[in-house]
Amino acid sequence: MVKLFDLKKIDKRIEKIISYPGIGKNNLILRKNYWIASLAFFIVIVVLTFVFWLIYPEFKILLSYGLFLSVIFLEYLIAAFFVRENLKKIQVINQVLITVGTFLFILKLGGIPHSGGLIFVGFFVVLFSLDFKIIKYSVLLFIIYVITLVLAGILHPYLTVAPEMTSSANIFLFVVNLLWISAFAFLFVLNFISQRIEIEKKEIKLLKELNEIRTKLYTNITHEFRTPLTVIQGMTDLIRTNPDKWLHRGTRKIENNSVILLNYVNQMLDLSKLEAGAMTVSMIQGNIILYITYLVDLFRSLADSKKVTLQYFPENEPVLMDYDPAKLTQIISNLISNAVKYNKSGGKVEITTSINKSNGYRLEIKVRDNGIGIKEEELLNIFDRFYRGDKDRKNIQNEPGSGLGLALTLELIKLLGGTIRAESVYGKGTEFRVSLPVTNNASLVENKDLAEITGVISAPEAYYEEEGPLVEKKCRQNKPELLIVEDRHDIVEYLSALLEKDYCVQYALNGKEGWKKALDLSPDIILSDIMMPEMDGIEMLDKVKNDVRTSHIPVIVLTAKADIASRINGLKRGADAYISKPFNKEELMAQLNTLVELRKKLQKRYSIIGYNPVSKDADNNTEDIFIQKVSEFMRDNLEDDNFNINDLCYEVAMSRSQLYRKFKSLTNKTLFEYLQLIRLHKAKELLTTADINVSEAATLSGFKNLSHFSRAFTKEFGINPSKIKKM
Ligand code: ATP
Ligand code: MG
Repeated sequence: MVKLFDLKKIDKRIEKIISYPGIGKNNLILRKNYWIASLAFFIVIVVLTFVFWLIYPEFKILLSYGLFLSVIFLEYLIAAFFVRENLKKIQVINQVLITVGTFLFILKLGGIPHSGGLIFVGFFVVLFSLDFKIIKYSVLLFIIYVITLVLAGILHPYLTVAPEMTSSANIFLFVVNLLWISAFAFLFVLNFISQRIEIEKKEIKLLKELNEIRTKLYTNITHEFRTPLTVIQGMTDLIRTNPDKWLHRGTRKIENNSVILLNYVNQMLDLSKLEAGAMTVSMIQGNIILYITYLVDLFRSLADSKKVTLQYFPENEPVLMDYDPAKLTQIISNLISNAVKYNKSGGKVEITTSINKSNGYRLEIKVRDNGIGIKEEELLNIFDRFYRGDKDRKNIQNEPGSGLGLALTLELIKLLGGTIRAESVYGKGTEFRVSLPVTNNASLVENKDLAEITGVISAPEAYYEEEGPLVEKKCRQNKPELLIVEDRHDIVEYLSALLEKDYCVQYALNGKEGWKKALDLSPDIILSDIMMPEMDGIEMLDKVKNDVRTSHIPVIVLTAKADIASRINGLKRGADAYISKPFNKEELMAQLNTLVELRKKLQKRYSIIGYNPVSKDADNNTEDIFIQKVSEFMRDNLEDDNFNINDLCYEVAMSRSQLYRKFKSLTNKTLFEYLQLIRLHKAKELLTTADINVSEAATLSGFKNLSHFSRAFTKEFGINPSKIKKM
C-alpha cells in the first residue's frame, strides 16, 4: 500500500526546517508543537474566513478580523524559521495582540452579546499559553483578558450594534466559534492529561528499576561480605578452641580475608566517589614506563605461584607524561590480576605499551593473556558492577573477587580521559586495550622519588594465597557420613575442623562433583553452598531430592544469600534446613544433629517388618513407596531360595550398590538382614496359625538349612521354633 502521507518523513522535515545547531531535544519538540499548532490555527482561520465570506460577503468587520488573525499566525509561522531564542517572546506578543485585537473587534460589533462568541478567544489564548510553562506569561495574558472583559462590560451601554450582525449571523458565529474553541481546548486538556499519565508511568518505572538495582546491589554486597566474614568468624573460633593447631594458619586466613573485605570496601567507596564526581585527579609528570615496570614487577610472585609467565614489552622508552600514580596502579593492577587469575598453569600474560599518534598523542597499554577467555555475549557485561562471569566458565568462582575490578577500572580510565576496550576468544585468551591521552602539564618528578610514591603500594600476593589440596581423612565407621559441597577451600577447611569430631567428612568443590558424590557415597547428610561453579547448590538440591537414589538424604543449604526469596526457593525445592553465612557454629551443629536424629527415627520406623505406611505423608512419600516396593518384592519371592538381587535392582531402578546404600541408610539394616527378618516373621506366622511342622515352616519361608533357621529364629524371638509350635 502506498502511503499518501509519510507522517514520519513530514515530521523529520519539519524538525529540520525549524531546528538550529545547539537546539536541545526538549526545545525542538516545543518549537515543533507550537509550529504545528499555529499552522493548524492558520488553516482553520483561513478556511472559516473564506466560508464566512461566501455566506456573508457584506460582513466586512468579521472578514477583517479573520484577516487580522491570519496575518498574526502567518507572521509566527515565518518567524519560527528565523528567530531562535526569542520565539517565546514573539508568541507572547502575538497572544497579547490577539486578545487586545479581539477586544476591539468585539467593541466594533456592538459588545459581548453581539460578538458571536468572540469573547472566548481571549480565554482560549490564556489556556494555550499554559503550555509555555512560564507562569508569569500566562498570568499577564489572563490579566489582560480580564481587563478586556470588564471593559467590554462597562462600555456596553455606549456601543452600537453593527448592522451586519443580525441575530441569525450572531447565533451562527457563536456556534462556529464555540465549536472550534471547545475542540481545541478539549484537545489541549487531553494532551496535557495524557502527558501527565505518561510522566507518571515513567516515574513509576524508573522507581521500580532503581529499587531493583538497589536490592540487587544489597544482595550482592551482603553475599560478598558474608563469605570472608564466615571465614574470619570461623577461624577466630578455631584459634580459641585449639590455639596450638590453628594460631598460625588461622591468623593468616583472617588476615587474608580482612584484606579482601577492606579491598571491597575501598573499591565500593571509590566507585561511589567516582559516581558523585568527587574523585580528584592528582597528576605528576614522569617516565610512565618506569612506573609501569614497577607495577608489573609487583605481580611477579603472584604469577610465579600460578605458573604464569609475565612479560612487559615497552615499545618506546622513556615516555614522559602526566599520570596519576594511584589511579594508574589500580587500573594496571586490576587488568594484570585478572589476566593472571583467569589463566591456567603455564599460561602467559604480556603487557605492551606504545605511543599512538593517529588521534592526538595517546599512550596505549595492552594486557594480553592466553587464559580461559570470555564468551562473546559476556563481553558486554564484564564492566558491570558485581559481574563475575558465566557460572559455566570453569575457574571463575574459585577465584576470589567481587566483580568490581573492571567497573572501577572503567570509571577511573574515563576520569583520566581515556578509553578501554576488551577483545576475547573464548578458550583462547583476552586482550584489554587502554588508551590514555599524553599531556605534559604537571610538575616533574625525578625518577629517584618514585620509591616514595610507590612505597604505599603493597604487593598483591596477600589475597591470592595458594590453596593446598584438601585431604579427606579416613574415619571410623560408626560416625555419620557428611558431604560438604562448597567451592571455597577455607570454608571447607573450617567446616571440616568444626565437624570432623562427630562426622566422617567428605567434600566436593562444586555442585556437579557434589551430585556425583551424593550418588556414589550416599552420605547420611549433605551440607551445601548455593553459589558454586559448574552446577549451583539449588540445581544440585533439585537433583538430589528428585532422584529416588538420593531423595532420602537430608540437605542443609548453607549460603551467603540471606534474602528471603532465595531462602524460600531453597526450601521449596526440598532443602531440609537453611543456614545463612556467616553462620552460628552451634546452630549449624544443632541442625545437623537434629536431622541425623530424625533420620534415626525414620530408620526405626522403616526397619519394623511389615511396616505399612498408612498416612501418605508427603515428605516421606518417595521413601515409603521405596520401602514398600522392596518389602513387597521380598514377600513375593520369599520361597525362592535364590533370591535374585538383580531383579530387585531392576524393580527399583537402582544399581546394586545404590540399592544397598539407600536401603541401609533408611532402615539401618542390610537387604539380607531385612530379608531374613521378613522370612522369620513369615515362619512365625505360619507356625502359630497353620498346622505345619517346623521344617515345613522353614522351607515355606525360604530357609534351606534347618539348624540355621532355628538359630536365627531363637535369636530374633527369644524362643525356639519348636517350642512356639507347642504353645
Ligand atoms: P575483582 O576484580 O573485583 O576482585 P573480578 O575479577 O571477578 O573481581 P572484574 O575484574 O570486574 O571482577 O572482572 C569481571 C569478570 O570478567 C570476571 O569475574 C571474569 O569472569 C571476567 N574477566 C575479567 N578479566 C578476564 C580475563 N583476563 N580473562 C577471562 N575473564 C576475565
Ligand atoms: Mg578483577
